Formats: sequence, C-alpha cells, structure tokens
Amino acid sequence: MTERQQLIINNVDAHKQMIADAERWLWAHPQTGYTEWEANAYMAEKFQEMGYELTMAGNIPGFYTDVETGKPGPKLCIMSELDALDISAHPESVNGMTHCCGHHAQGAAMLGIAAALKAPGALDGLCGSIRLMVVPAEEMIQLAFRENLRKEGVISYMGGKVEFMHRGYFEGVDLALMVHGGAAGEGEPYDFGCGLGNNGCMAKTIRFKGKSAHAGGAPHLGINAQYAAMLGLQACNDLRETLQEKDTVRFHPIMMGVNCAVNIIPDEMKIESYVRGRTLEAMKRENKKFNRALTGAALAMGAGVELCDRPGYSPEVHDKNFMELVEQCCCDLVGKERVAFDYQAWSTGSSDFGDLTCVMPGVQFFASGLTGVCHGIDFQVADVNRLCVNAAKAQLFVAEALLADDAAKAKDIIANYKPQFGSIKEYLTAIEELVLDKDAVIYDENGNATVDFQN
Ligand SMILES: [Zn+2]
Ligand SMILES: [Zn+2]
Repeated sequence: MTERQQLIINNVDAHKQMIADAERWLWAHPQTGYTEWEANAYMAEKFQEMGYELTMAGNIPGFYTDVETGKPGPKLCIMSELDALDISAHPESVNGMTHCCGHHAQGAAMLGIAAALKAPGALDGLCGSIRLMVVPAEEMIQLAFRENLRKEGVISYMGGKVEFMHRGYFEGVDLALMVHGGAAGEGEPYDFGCGLGNNGCMAKTIRFKGKSAHAGGAPHLGINAQYAAMLGLQACNDLRETLQEKDTVRFHPIMMGVNCAVNIIPDEMKIESYVRGRTLEAMKRENKKFNRALTGAALAMGAGVELCDRPGYSPEVHDKNFMELVEQCCCDLVGKERVAFDYQAWSTGSSDFGDLTCVMPGVQFFASGLTGVCHGIDFQVADVNRLCVNAAKAQLFVAEALLADDAAKAKDIIANYKPQFGSIKEYLTAIEELVLDKDAVIYDENGNATVDFQN
C-alpha cells in the first residue's frame, strides 16, 4: 500500500455513512430506463452540494462532470448506472420495480468517488482529467416505450451509454471504467472479479398480424396470430442446433400477450426478443435465420408479420493491459487472494459498456456484496462496504494508477489498444446496419405471397 493509496482509503472512509445512506435511498427509489428521474435528481443534488458543475442530459436522466487536474493528459470516464427493472414479485418492489441488478449501488459508490476527489491533495501528482458520468437505461427493456421515445426524437438509441455516445458526451474520453455489483455467494471469498467480456445483443420487436373472428362460431373467418407466433418460435427453436458454440448465441423471446377476449381469434401477437452473440457478425448471421423462420411461419398461417430490429449493445471486450492494471489495483486494496480476474471468461449477458469497448480501452469489473439471483426476487444487498465503499476505493486506485507519473500507464494502454472502429461516428454508422423494418409477407389477390425479411 502506497501513501497515495492510503490517502484514497481515508478520503473514501470519511464518507462511509453518506455512501451507505445513498445505497438505501437509491434502493428505495427504483425506476426503469429513461424514467429514472428520482435517482437522477438525488444524484445531481448530492454532486451539486459537493460543488460540482454538471452537464445534464436534460430530456432524459443522466449527467456528467469533469474533474480537472490542471495538467494536460488523458481523460478517464468513470460511470454509474441509474436504472432498475420491472419485477413486481420482488418483496421490496416499489411500483412494480426493484434494483435487482444492483445499479443503485453504483450510484452510491459514485458519490463516494465524487466526495473523495474533493478532499485536499486528492489530485496531487495526477495529470489529465476524470469524467464522472451518471448514465440512464442500461437494461434493454420496454422496447415499445423506447421505440416511441425514438420516434418522438427524444432518444436515438435503446441503451443509455450508446445514446450518450451519440450525444457527444464521450468526445475526448480516452478510457472507460465501471464497477457492477456481483453476488457474494455462501463462502464467496472474492471481493472483486472480472472476465474478458460478454456478448453483444440486438433488440427485436416482432408483430404477427392475423384477423379477428368469433372463436366458436366462425373461426374459419379468422387468422390466428397467436398460432402463427407459436409456429414461428417453434421454427426458431428448431434452428438452435445450427448455432455454433463459438458464437455463444442467445435467443430468448417472450410473447407479449393478446389484447382481445377468449372468444375472439387473436388478430395480433407481439414478441420481444434479443439475439445475443460473441461478435456482431454472428448476431447478424443468426438473426437473419430467425427472421426467415418467423416469416415462414406467418406465411404458413396466412398471417402477416412485421419485423423491427434495432441495435442493442455491442460485444464487450476488456482491454487486457487495462485489465491487468485494474487487477493490480484490486490486489493492492484487498489482497491477491480476494481478487478473481479470469482473462478467458466470457459471459452471455450484455451491457452497453460493450459499445464503449469498441472505440476505447475499457474495463467493467465486479464488486461483491450482493446476495440472491441477479434479476431475481431474492436479490438483496448483503454488504455495503464490499459493494460500494470498496468499489469507490478500487476505482480511485485505478484512476491514480492511470494518471500518476505523467499518466505513463494510461498512455501505454491507449497506445497499445486496437479499436474495432476508428471513431464513435464510424461505430454508430456501422451499427445502423442492424436497423430493419419489414412487413415481411405481402399477399397478392390470388393469395400468393412475396417475402422480404432482410435489408
Ligand atoms: Zn441487469
Ligand atoms: Zn446490471
């Protein structure tokens, strides 16, 4: 432990109670993506009380502020997420929502970081700057609501980070850092963990279109959109054996229900799904097969189907050099035996942090302190010190390691990083290819059909 690291520990420990209070407050005020106004106001107020000037996103929750060292150098962005999930069965749900992914804990840690950076001497010896960013909408849910926001011109993208990329909030940022909460199981010895990365995903909204009729008296006059949807999903399921392990593809549709009565043949069935995969290429390739299967099912039933695909999140790949630096910082803080970094491990979940790793070196690592199943009804905070206080300290250790010594380490990581895309603009142009809007089966007067399910 260096003197500087000890100073960071002291600076964060001085705000332990504020961090713990924030964790409880944010837990008690869960709201889903792009509606997190309560948490946004709470976080903004705390930042402003500390004397920070904020750039607010304005028409959506979220903001950022820059902590300047006064010397030129790289810019590190540290993020915390705002959003909760719809999970009304959770015993502590509020209006049907709960922080069952633990994003609220990121906010509490973020306040600890913001407070510690205001302490005397906190920036001594550092160069460059630290952007503290509070981001909305990590969980890609409520696709219809977000598509409406998109049509109204409020947002351009489903995910908060990629929306912030689009808005220019990452211009000039060189490195991205985040800590997500992790479950600390029985006897779980680790305080921090990290894998190589995780799947990307795209968002699908599928609408089967039939014809309503009396379900008992005249079903021959109807076209059952629910059956067409079921057939489509059966075909997609039968395609699963053609998926290759190397691509780690996931397709997990949910039928959104029927908006009519039991004695009416349903004329509409909506499905929401993701297609997830290890690479954008794999996602595109397999998505085309799923769209073909859904189209074929509609045709088989004489139904129609609208396919709506949107960019979700890109595969997240952590920069290895950056990961090594983060691992060292975690070891310095809690000891080697309490740190589990696996440079091969791959998760099949997705995060919009992946969009950032396409254009800059980034690491999202995990702090233990949660219990139960992530996205489950038994999810709870077990240890606020491990989850939030430690996370604040670890991220400040990383900032220190990157930006001390004329930012030698940050500069080395940046120089050796090979971006998948030359710029944020280039990246956003590339993911536009995923956008698809098709009425995939068109019938002529003889009942013949033309199908069109790809761009
Ligand atoms: Zn989640
Ligand atoms: Zn999460």
